[in-house]
Amino acid sequence: MKKEVVIGLEIHIQLMTKAKMFCHCSTDYIGKEPNTNTCPVCLGLPGSLPVLNKKVLEFAIRTAVALNCEINQVSKFHRKNYFYPDLPKAYQISQYDVPLGIKGYMEISLPESKEKHRIGITRVHTEEDAGKLVHKGDIASSSYSLVDYNRCGIPLAEIVTEPDFRSPEEARIFLVKLRSIVQHLGVCDGNMEEGSMRCDANVSLRDAKSSTLGTKVEIKNMNSFKAVKKALQFEVDRQKKLLAEGIEIIQETRHWDESKSVTISMRSKEEAHDYRYFPEPDLLPLKVDLKMADEIRRNLPELPEARRERFIKNYQIPEYDAEILTSSKALGDFYEKSTSLYSNSKVLSNWIMGELIRYLNENKIEIEDSPISPEKLVGMLKLIDEGIVSGKMAKGIFEKMFKTGKDASKIVKESGITQITDKNELFEVMDRVIKENPRSVEDFNEGKEKALHYLVGQVMRYTKGRAKPDFVFDTIKQRIKKI
Ligand code: ADP
Ligand code: MG
Ligand code: ZN
Repeated sequence: MKKEVVIGLEIHIQLMTKAKMFCHCSTDYIGKEPNTNTCPVCLGLPGSLPVLNKKVLEFAIRTAVALNCEINQVSKFHRKNYFYPDLPKAYQISQYDVPLGIKGYMEISLPESKEKHRIGITRVHTEEDAGKLVHKGDIASSSYSLVDYNRCGIPLAEIVTEPDFRSPEEARIFLVKLRSIVQHLGVCDGNMEEGSMRCDANVSLRDAKSSTLGTKVEIKNMNSFKAVKKALQFEVDRQKKLLAEGIEIIQETRHWDESKSVTISMRSKEEAHDYRYFPEPDLLPLKVDLKMADEIRRNLPELPEARRERFIKNYQIPEYDAEILTSSKALGDFYEKSTSLYSNSKVLSNWIMGELIRYLNENKIEIEDSPISPEKLVGMLKLIDEGIVSGKMAKGIFEKMFKTGKDASKIVKESGITQITDKNELFEVMDRVIKENPRSVEDFNEGKEKALHYLVGQVMRYTKGRAKPDFVFDTIKQRIKKI
C-alpha cells in the first residue's frame, strides 16, 4: 500500500538578548575562553537563585505572536531533570504543561501549488540552554571529553510544530521561512552552522488513507537546511524499506552523520516521565500582562511575507526573485541598500541572486560578510552602463572584486580590461577575421546567418572579449559588403 510521509519539527532558537536567561552573564560566548562566561546562577551552585530576564519574555512573546499563537496569561516553569555533564544543575529550567504560546500556525507556499499550506504550531516556550561537551577526537572513539559551561543559561525559544509536513522539502521550506521570520523579528540570528538555530525532525510513515499516526523516529544533529532535508529523506527511505520487509519501526532517536549521509541509532526515545518534570520552586508562575502581548503584536516589524509583497510592488521584480531576496533578513537589507543606489532593480536582483549568492555559497561566506558591498556592486554596474566594460567582462571583474574586495574601477584600471572604444582598432580586427575566413564570408553572402555569429565570435576571441558584440555584429556585415 502507498505510504504517506508525516513530519513534525522541534526547533530551538537562541534568543539574542544581551544577558542570559536567569543571570547577568553575557550571551556573547562564542570564541570566549571556556568556562569564563559563567556565574554561580548559570553554574547552578548551591544557594544561587534564578531571576527571569524580562527581555527573554519579550523576545519569546514576539516569536509566539509572529507565529499566530495564543499567549497563555499564566504559564509555568518546570524543571526537566536529566543527568549529563553539560548540565551542571542536573536539570534544565523549561516549560512543560503550560507553555507561553499555543495553537499558532505559519503558512508556507509550495512550488507545485498556488495554495498556501498551513502548518500548525503546537507550542512556543522558553527554556535555558545547556553547556557544551568538547570530545577529544571522534565522538565514538573519544578517550575523554571536556566541558565548557559558557553556553549554560543562554535563553532559547522552542517551537514545536504539528505533524503537518508531508515531505522533507516542505520541512525545508518551512525552516527557511522560519529563520527569515526570527531574523526579521530581531530575536535570533538563525545561524544553523553555529547552532543558534537547531532543529530536531520527527518522521513516520502511515498508509495513505489512514488517520492514525505511525511510529515516529526523531533525528538530531543536522546543521543546515539541506542536511535536514537529506536526513529526512534518508529516514523515509529506511522506514519504507523496513515496512516493506514487514519489520516494525521502533521509536528511537537517531543521529544524522553528515559525512556518511546516514542516520545512526543513538538511543531509544526517552519519555516525558523519564525527565521527572516538576514545577520550578525557585520561580513564580509567569504572568503575562496581555496588554504587553498586544503591544508587542501591534509593534511587530515588517515580516518576510509583507516584505516580499512590497518588493514585488515597489521594485517590480518577479515573485520568484522577491521570495529569494527575502529569504534572509540580511539579503533583503543588501538588496534594499542596492536599490537606493541604483535604479534598475531587476538587474540588481539578477546579479545578487546569480553571481553574488553563488560566490557566497561556494566560499561559505554569509551575506553579512560579503566582500562585495552594495556600493561595490553598483559601482560595477555603472561601468557596464557607461560602456567601459561589457556584461561578460563584468563577470570576470565581479570574481576579482569578490576575491580582493577592490572596487571595480580599480580592477579595470590595474588590468586594463576595458572595452575597446577605438573603432579603427576594431575595424582592423574585423577585416583580418574576414580575410582569414573566406568560407564563412561566402556562407554569409549566401544567406547563412550562422556564419556571421562565427565571425563575430572570432573577433571576440582576438580581442579577448574586449569588443562590444552588438557593435561588431552590426559593423562586420558592412565591412563584408565593402570588401
Ligand atoms: P515527544 O513528547 O516524543 O517529544 P511530541 O508529541 O511532543 O513528542 O511531538 C514532538 C514532535 O514530533 C512534534 O513536532 C510532533 O508534531 C511530531 N510528531 C508527533 N508524532 C509524530 C508522528 N507519528 N510522526 C511524525 N511526527 C510526529
Ligand atoms: Mg520532544
Ligand atoms: Zn551566569
